Amino acid sequence: MNSDLLIQVENLSRYYGSRAAVDDISFELRRGEVLGFLGPNGAGKSTTMQVISGNLAPSEGRVVINGIDILEQPRQAKAALGFLPEQPPLYRELTVDEYLRYCAGLNRIPRSRISQAMESAREHCGLADVGARLIGNLSKGYQQRVGIAQAIIHSPDVVILDEPTVGLDPIQIREIRHLIRTLGEQHSVILSTHILPEVQATCDRVQIISQGRLVLSDTIEGLERRMQGSSLTAAFRQQVEPADLTDLPGVMEVEMLPDRRLQLHHVVDQNPAEALVERSVAQGWGLYELVPERMSLEDVFVDITCADRLQEGEP
Ligand code: ATP
Repeated sequence: MNSDLLIQVENLSRYYGSRAAVDDISFELRRGEVLGFLGPNGAGKSTTMQVISGNLAPSEGRVVINGIDILEQPRQAKAALGFLPEQPPLYRELTVDEYLRYCAGLNRIPRSRISQAMESAREHCGLADVGARLIGNLSKGYQQRVGIAQAIIHSPDVVILDEPTVGLDPIQIREIRHLIRTLGEQHSVILSTHILPEVQATCDRVQIISQGRLVLSDTIEGLERRMQGSSLTAAFRQQVEPADLTDLPGVMEVEMLPDRRLQLHHVVDQNPAEALVERSVAQGWGLYELVPERMSLEDVFVDITCADRLQEGEP
């Protein structure tokens, strides 16, 4: 067995009635990875997270955690997992410490190690000062930290977080994203989210799910490469014509825009920016603006998911 392979999902499907919420997906998670599981609402993220955390049975396929099939030996497989569901399982009438002690018991942490486990989870999640506070009186951001603390209290190899920043304010979102990044130093993490920049800020690798199917699996660098556009817009003090630029390396076409800026369409891997700057200096054209076109993550997402639908023959 490869001990670096913490999760293997093989041909997983989950039906609700005749409808496939998750449709034949396969992927792996390795030690030390933070994997972003990205998709719009209804794509099948929560269903997948519920199945790999052992809370929902698959209709077809297999989930193996740390070499153990989750259906065959659920208790042993789940010991390696910590899970923060979309609706955190918090008891508002308990204090943070009472709740964490309860979760430590649920996770079968030996009595002699409970205090240490609680202290470590509190410290990791920035809860050191709120142990005696009632959960119901904490801000939503702090409640989410408590949700994450219960997911890591037994030091699992893998932490699964389902939409952990939904409903938080921008400062809380920043804090929770930072916390996710630090979790990645000690645990492997699967982060399910519909927020593209969240994946960019916290993950090493990304998988996009659309209508129950995986449509992309790539590193964050790979995703960023997909976002690189293939045009530059330039503005000059002097009058420069498209014909002055068409012979630059990699340039396919030059367009004059209505505001007299020039748009250079180029081969994706051959950005002519440097050559353009050199020519402008040599010719004294007074280049004062050079803007590379860049697809937003949203553009890439729409691109990929639309291509997927077109393949399916949808309008
Ligand atoms: P969201 O972020 O909105 O929860 P999601 O990507 O997590 O979206 P799922 O919750 O996994 O998506 O839902 C996938 C599909 O399965 C949706 O069409 C949803 O309506 C359907 N679905 C989810 N749970 C059930 C259920 N218990 N019974 C019937 N259909 C369900």
